[in-house]
Amino acid sequence: MPETTYHMVSTVEEALGKARELNGDFCYLAGGTDLQILRQQRLVRQSHVIDISRVEELRTVHADETGLTLGAMITLDELVKHPVIKRKYPLLITAARSIATPVIRKTATVGGNLLLKNRCSFYNQSYDWRQAIGSCLRDHGDICQVVGTGKNCYSRNVSDLAPALIALGAQAEIRDPTDRVTVPLLELYSGDGIENHQYINNNNGILTTIRIPARNGQSWFRKLRLRRSVDFTSLTVAIVWDQRRVRIGINGASMAPVLIRENLSGLSLENLQRQARKKCRFVDNDLLPLQYRRDMLQVYLQEWWDQRNQAAL
Ligand SMILES: Cc1cc2nc3c(=O)[nH]c(=O)nc-3n(C[C@H](O)[C@H](O)[C@H](O)COP(=O)(O)OP(=O)(O)OC[C@H]3O[C@@H](n4cnc5c(N)ncnc54)[C@H](O)[C@@H]3O)c2cc1C
Ligand code: SF4
Repeated sequence: MPETTYHMVSTVEEALGKARELNGDFCYLAGGTDLQILRQQRLVRQSHVIDISRVEELRTVHADETGLTLGAMITLDELVKHPVIKRKYPLLITAARSIATPVIRKTATVGGNLLLKNRCSFYNQSYDWRQAIGSCLRDHGDICQVVGTGKNCYSRNVSDLAPALIALGAQAEIRDPTDRVTVPLLELYSGDGIENHQYINNNNGILTTIRIPARNGQSWFRKLRLRRSVDFTSLTVAIVWDQRRVRIGINGASMAPVLIRENLSGLSLENLQRQARKKCRFVDNDLLPLQYRRDMLQVYLQEWWDQRNQAAL
């Protein structure tokens, strides 16, 4: 592993001060369940780590009649055990419980999950493996190993909390050394396979809280993967709807999560399936084949549609 200097901080202010000093040559460390693997595989090159795991102000959960505010350093285990979240936001519980294993969820955080680096079966490999096949665009090479050209990286965003929170209409608060912004969570994702996140990468920002508005209605979640015990997603679909509207979050299919928003009146399944086909840019960089994942997206949408229609009878 490359040599790294470690900095422990106890407040957001202190973290941002350190970030300013280090001028981009650092990563924030939350639970480390993603970052440490990337470092071992020599996929992270920054020389400093700023450990934010002891920042208490990022560990709060507040729920009231207007919604839920989650600190970014809440672990996935704390999230799935929270009584109010269990009662009012079952979609978040299902999504979080589908992530990794119970042991990993004790360390993995909400913020770390939302800011997971994109994955690709040609990139998330050991250094020796990558050297053997030749580097790719995202790893100092000239071409993308998936499509064979040098234009774009098609690595996939695989956070399972992201599509659920996007379907729930969540907002993210980001603080950087000079500013504090609140944006719809979807805007955090750049759609670029190499620089996956906006606000965070360029401005040394810290994701501080996620705000989810109170919502009546129902939810639905499906996740496709090779081994249900531990694998990252090959396709995740999270749906939230009420009498009038539906919000569909899709992830694992493209460089960024996808949102489809529609009024239910007059909507057809074919229309939804067409939109999903158009917005998701599957390429062959996952354990499961491209066409199978494409087909399963259509199957999931049909499954939800049928279930909803049956419930309405
Ligand atoms: C075996 C295994 C299986 C997994 N399966 C799944 C799965 O099925 N679905 C899924 O979604 N995930 C899966 N994961 C990934 C897991 O969810 C993430 O590793 C975890 O949620 C990341 O949280 P963390 O706190 O460990 O983040 P870290 O590893 O500490 O950080 C991840 C990234 O986010 C940045 N970061 C973290 N917090 C902040 C913040 N507040 N502000 C700014 N930047 C920040 C870090 O710099 C880093 O780039 C799996 C991981 C493993 C090891
Ligand atoms: S999609 Fe292409 S450029 Fe991006 S990580 Fe995979 S092989 Fe590399």
